[in-house]
Amino acid sequence: MGEQGQAGTSSETKSVVTRSAEETIAWGREFARGLKAPLLVLLTGDLGSGKTTLTKGIVAGLGAADEEDVTSPTFTLVHVYGDEPTRGAAVAGTASSPSARSVVYHGDLYRIESFHDFETLGLEDAFAKPAVMILEWSEKFPLQAPWPQVRLKLEHMGGDSRRITVG
Ligand code: ADP
Ligand code: MG
Repeated sequence: MGEQGQAGTSSETKSVVTRSAEETIAWGREFARGLKAPLLVLLTGDLGSGKTTLTKGIVAGLGAADEEDVTSPTFTLVHVYGDEPTRGAAVAGTASSPSARSVVYHGDLYRIESFHDFETLGLEDAFAKPAVMILEWSEKFPLQAPWPQVRLKLEHMGGDSRRITVG
């Protein structure tokens, strides 16, 4: 697929059309090879466009969890893979070794209704330590992120086809 290096720092725009959830997951795995923490991955696209499905591939590709263990954080709001199970523990921090797998946060702001609720999530606390943060519906609230970011846009193309655009 010819991924560029750290996609977040590139101004290049490119897109691909996948024809099944499995293809989207496979694309996400491949895409993750070019990613390096710290990084914010912003996913945009309508409900059912494949944001969570794509995240399965990215999380698996980063080695943080198996794809079947990655589920939608629609109600739980934030999941953490590959490290401490709670945000508090993640913030307390442990010495990170270069060989450690990436910690991956997967958040979904769809059900967050107010800026106050958004702030209560404490997402900014995660920036204390390099990780990959993948966010669905991030466009709903302004997030002050000191990390590089990459935007992935998903679009329904009819049936099981989805266009994924990087940039
Ligand atoms: P979102 O998180 O954007 O709301 P989901 O990933 O939860 O979307 O849901 C996408 C749905 O569409 C899943 O049921 C998935 O199996 C299905 N689907 C069908 N084709 C594709 C495709 N090409 N890419 C991603 N998901 C697909
Ligand atoms: Mg989702």
